Amino acid sequence: MIYKIAHIGVAVKNIEEVEKLYAEVLNLPVRGREESKENKVAFIPVGDTAIELLQGMTPDAPIARFIEKKGEGIHHIAYQVDNIEKALEEMKAKGVALIDEKPRRGAHNSQIAFLHPQGTYGLLIELVEPEKGH
Ligand code: ZN
Repeated sequence: MIYKIAHIGVAVKNIEEVEKLYAEVLNLPVRGREESKENKVAFIPVGDTAIELLQGMTPDAPIARFIEKKGEGIHHIAYQVDNIEKALEEMKAKGVALIDEKPRRGAHNSQIAFLHPQGTYGLLIELVEPEKGH
C-alpha cells in the first residue's frame, strides 16, 4: 500500500549550489548526503516528506543524461510503501512495466524500485520501503 510521498527527486548539475539555495533562501538544510558510483545525493526534509537532490557523477550517468535531454528539475516521485516485494508483485500482476523487477538497495538502507515511465504517462515513479524500524 502506498501511504505517502517519501521524497521528490530533483536532477541538478551542481548539488552544492542547489543545497545553498535550499539552506539559505528556503531555510531547509541538508540532513544527509550519500555518494554512489552513479550519483551524489542530498536529502532535504520538508515536513513529512523530502527533496532528494541528485547529481550524476559522470557525463553519461543517467541523471546527467536526463538533464541533457530535459534540463534540470523534477526527475521522479517516490511513494512510500509498507511492503515493496508485495507492491511490485501486485503491479506486475496488473501489467505495469517495471524498471526494477526486484527491489534494490537505496539510500539509508531502504529498498527501492522504479516503475517504467512508459507505463506511467511520462512520470518516473519510485517505490520506497524504508529500513525496518525507521
Ligand atoms: Zn528517489
